[in-house]
Amino acid sequence: MARINDNFLKLRAGYLFPEIGRRVATFAKAHPEIAPRIIRCGIGDVTEPLPQVAIEAMHQAVDDQSRHETFHGYGPEQGYEWLREAIATVSYQGRGVQVEADEIYVSDGAKCDTGNILDIFGNDNVVAVPDPVYPVYVDTNVMQGNTGEAQDNGSYAGLVYLPCTPENGFVAQVPDQHVDLIYLCFPNNPTGAVATSEQLKKWVDYALQNHAIILYDGAYEAFITDPSIPSSIYAIPGARRCAIEFRSFSKQGGFTGVRCGYIVIPHELTGKDAAGNDIAISKLWGRRHTTKFNGASYIVQRGAAALFTPEGQHQTRALIDHYLGNAKLLSEACQHVGLQVWGGTNAPYVWVQTPAGMGSWELFDKLLQEANLVITPGAGFGAHGEGFFRISAFNSRANVEEACKRLVACLKG
Ligand SMILES: *Cc1c(COP(=O)(O)O)cnc(C)c1O
Repeated sequence: MARINDNFLKLRAGYLFPEIGRRVATFAKAHPEIAPRIIRCGIGDVTEPLPQVAIEAMHQAVDDQSRHETFHGYGPEQGYEWLREAIATVSYQGRGVQVEADEIYVSDGAKCDTGNILDIFGNDNVVAVPDPVYPVYVDTNVMQGNTGEAQDNGSYAGLVYLPCTPENGFVAQVPDQHVDLIYLCFPNNPTGAVATSEQLKKWVDYALQNHAIILYDGAYEAFITDPSIPSSIYAIPGARRCAIEFRSFSKQGGFTGVRCGYIVIPHELTGKDAAGNDIAISKLWGRRHTTKFNGASYIVQRGAAALFTPEGQHQTRALIDHYLGNAKLLSEACQHVGLQVWGGTNAPYVWVQTPAGMGSWELFDKLLQEANLVITPGAGFGAHGEGFFRISAFNSRANVEEACKRLVACLKG
């Protein structure tokens, strides 16, 4: 008798994006003449073509695979040295942050990494997540057996939820209880919030005091425009002893369909074994990564490395500026109709308060039916997301301009 992992049965059926998909499909089927008019500002997927340097590097890499002299089979599981060196020198050391190439593990994306990291942690950790939250952090903990059952408001027993609200600027405050693993994401998905050095220092101090580990998701790091906002958790003294950082080329280089990310595990980061000994986290992750992963594609890593050349940095900046320009327009449109807005300046997401008294799914249906716009209801990201909605700036400029017009027409007065 093959037994299944019962933890999967605890997962709530309606994962956010499938539910959005169902509602959009139902509407489009009922109104086929309107269907082509629908503009999607829901899922956080990029829309613009890849930077030219990445295209050229990947074409070249395909040609490399056509000749004996330049052919590449399995590469190092941890990622090619030339990519890890480029990441360490450009993304970290060049900004005054200490990270070495051998502390970087290249992968096929940050979503997998944030889920897979749980392999190396025990099942008796107290886990804290922000609320609203990127659903992957929660669902992977459910699958792993780190939670109890789902409750009526969608939260899971056993997790510590850190409320992110207008009062704290959507930056989670350190809890007054002990936790062992803490997920933080800045710039934040879904709220677009960023954390200052002072705010991150509180978390680092808390983690060091509690022997906790911060799982820091920096997938949107490249969107930070404010020079006073730290681009990495390791800009905070002590973070090397208490944090793992996740990064991705998905949003930064438009690589959602190419697939490449990486994780940083500093040498000095340790966790406790059952006997209370300190064990290097890098040792465990190195073992896990080389056993279950055979390396990201050579072609893809060549494309990623090209983003670190001066020309690549320039093209990446232009791509990000395009999305940030979209965010500004969307943000202004919402403010124009009197809605309160957060995010959108250091992040590709605009987080908006729903018009008075309107639930976030109710607003979703109204915008879909009356403006043919798809946004993401805040309630889908957690109990504290109710009363808010997320608009994604990942779109063409023409779509964003049209979306702004429709938003204003639908929500004014
Ligand atoms: C998009 C996103 C990622 C990146 O995922 P990939 O698997 O690298 O495409 C990671 N974390 C958050 C919060 C994201 O929104």
